[in-house]
Amino acid sequence: MIRLLLLGFLLLPASVQGYSLSPQQIAPGVYMFEGATEHFTRDNKGDIANTGFIVGEDGVLVFDTGPSRNYGQSMRLAIATVTDKPVVAVYVSHHHPDHFLGNQAFGDVPIHALEHTIETIRRDGDAVTDSLYRLVGTPMAGTEPVEPGELVTLGRQTVAGRDIELIAAGGHGGDGHADLMLLDHASGVLFAGDLVFHERAPTTPNAELGQWHDALDRIEELDFRVLVPGHGPPARGPEPVQQTRDYLRWLEEHLHEAAAAGLDAAEVMYLDLPDRFQHMGVLEQEYRRSVAHLYPDIERATLRDVREP
Ligand SMILES: [Zn+2]
Repeated sequence: MIRLLLLGFLLLPASVQGYSLSPQQIAPGVYMFEGATEHFTRDNKGDIANTGFIVGEDGVLVFDTGPSRNYGQSMRLAIATVTDKPVVAVYVSHHHPDHFLGNQAFGDVPIHALEHTIETIRRDGDAVTDSLYRLVGTPMAGTEPVEPGELVTLGRQTVAGRDIELIAAGGHGGDGHADLMLLDHASGVLFAGDLVFHERAPTTPNAELGQWHDALDRIEELDFRVLVPGHGPPARGPEPVQQTRDYLRWLEEHLHEAAAAGLDAAEVMYLDLPDRFQHMGVLEQEYRRSVAHLYPDIERATLRDVREP
């Protein structure tokens, strides 16, 4: 029996439930796993967000854990191909399921997050997990939402021998401090979470657009050399910040104009979108979701202004 168990263990494939992640080195000691610039599907196994890790002198720091337990386990196998140092800290950028449902694979490690993230996962974790099971199917097997156990300490600090800065902002994940970023000072790599999208249309289910713009301004002032967006390819400059800002500004203006013209949501959803955004992944899908999220409030405010000039 013991031999059988041992054999089972040795025969475990290097990939887990179809996930076979390979680390992409973006700076000395800093790696990322790049997700598809798509929406959740059975084909992409929910692997649509970027995650990453930093190898310090005394251990490994992980930023975001992906969409499922199996993805998290695949991350750990991939990390072990780079270093035999233990994972000593996990940071979760925000509460959306593509970023935290791999937490289960890091049950032996302190998982840090902002209070907003911890509370929202506690409240909505089961519901968002159910919706991913519906969209992604079997690769999600065994996945359960795990709430981060540690409130993150913000600011500049040394963790596992690495000089890092943990920065709170908001606008994408919700109101207030809902989005966490990690800046690694030695390499200049900034893990920006979903405050920044690149070549992929931003998602807005909890967006506070004013705060999001403030966060983008702050990011541009940070001293980073490599930017890892929450979705899309990494960049060696601020273009992804500019792209995200351009899209969000356009979206807001466009929805206000549509409301002023008296269009209803169904009409707005099928308007033509500007050429300059056509290269972005999932543009039409995300735009339509954004109309559903944002238009009702904009429409109400516009009508109120018309009735009570
Ligand atoms: Zn995301």
